[in-house]
Amino acid sequence: MKKIEVLTDDCIGCGACVGIDPEHFEFNIDGYSIVKSEENLDSEALIDAIEACPIGIISFTKSPDSKNECSCENCKGCK
Ligand code: SF4
Repeated sequence: MKKIEVLTDDCIGCGACVGIDPEHFEFNIDGYSIVKSEENLDSEALIDAIEACPIGIISFTKSPDSKNECSCENCKGCK
């Protein structure tokens, strides 16, 4: 199963993801983006938010319990 990953330590707090997709992103106490929900991962707003991040620190990643599932676009058979 895929998960949303935000590299919060690199976030500049621009607010694009939170503004575009408040279902999945919110600010932490320091004003940087964190993942709010792992539901509805096929939403258009989520894709828009990922694409809108000016420094490209939002992506999908696999959860550790899904070793045999791969949903990355450029799969090279990673397991
Ligand atoms: S769009 Fe990117 S840089 Fe801006 S708040 Fe979200 S994660 Fe941080």
